[in-house]
Amino acid sequence: MKIEELGEFGLIDRLAERLDGKEGLVQGIGDDCAVLNEGKGKGKGDVYTLMTTDMLVSGDHFNRDWHTPKQIGSKSIVVNVSDIAAMGGYPEWGLISIAIPDDIEVEYIEEIYDGMLEASERYGLTIIGGDTTHGELLVINVVVIGKVEKKNLSLRSDAKVGDLVCVTGDLGKSWAGLDLLRAGKEGYTGYHLEPKCRLEEGRKLAPHVNAMIDVSDGLASEVNHICRDSSVGALIDKEKIPISEKTKEAASSIGKDPMFWALSGGEDFELVFTIPKDRLSLIDKIEKIIVGEITEEGVYLVDGKKTELKGGYDHFNL
Ligand code: ADP
Ligand code: MG
Repeated sequence: MKIEELGEFGLIDRLAERLDGKEGLVQGIGDDCAVLNEGKGKGKGDVYTLMTTDMLVSGDHFNRDWHTPKQIGSKSIVVNVSDIAAMGGYPEWGLISIAIPDDIEVEYIEEIYDGMLEASERYGLTIIGGDTTHGELLVINVVVIGKVEKKNLSLRSDAKVGDLVCVTGDLGKSWAGLDLLRAGKEGYTGYHLEPKCRLEEGRKLAPHVNAMIDVSDGLASEVNHICRDSSVGALIDKEKIPISEKTKEAASSIGKDPMFWALSGGEDFELVFTIPKDRLSLIDKIEKIIVGEITEEGVYLVDGKKTELKGGYDHFNL
């Protein structure tokens, strides 16, 4: 069977059927991080360990003609820390594995590490090891280990009917840059080349939100993940989906739809969270945009009429 018949998430579901849980595993496959309760001894069970890994492949996740090595290094850390942020936690340790093709020189790898170290410092992460090998393509895999207090753990599966659906910032900005670069045009490429994640905001939101996820595959995909895992539905108000002027300008310069970028592009690394209305005042200092509401069932985009909210980036089904 071709992988595209299942898609990325269908494949993961199928693999997950083969894997068993184990005592101490609070959350296995299916959230932004695995969550482990390693609590032995007094008080330790109040803090969970988070583990996540994300791989960057040359040509798929970065382009050596567009990204500087420093930007590649930085992105490899950001994408992983974003998953820690989505759980409400904080990163502590990082492991870096790298496959290096023949044409890359020592100085290039050192610059990748400059980018990794700068991002690691920003997010309070310490690199403690990894693996180095040869490969046809430049591939970087990062493992990040972090922590989250039990009370702050924010799963995809905790959305409740009546919650508001919010995002921490504007969407479509990463794909704006990607499509400009693909078209060979100048413009708003800065965010695509140097994305940031919302670690600080995730920490502040965590005590108050119900469900949380980061935007790696587009708003449509992330809202559907939350709804599926929480057994709820959602109404997303198309008009409220935040898209910046810079992103809109990029779209019109190359004849693209910025809404498609917001819903299905991904890599914006904003957080999507759900929160009961009566807790909204507790997060009034944090930038957020309310885009919809959690309902009993059905995931819809509302724009005068209701259409099913579909889409999202899938590496095997483009
Ligand atoms: P994210 O976009 O937040 O990094 P993914 O969509 O990559 O999450 O993964 C979703 C879930 O599937 C995660 O819990 C991840 O650990 C798990 N997963 C992804 N690929 C594999 C794999 N090859 N084997 C086992 N688990 C996987
Ligand atoms: Mg994620």
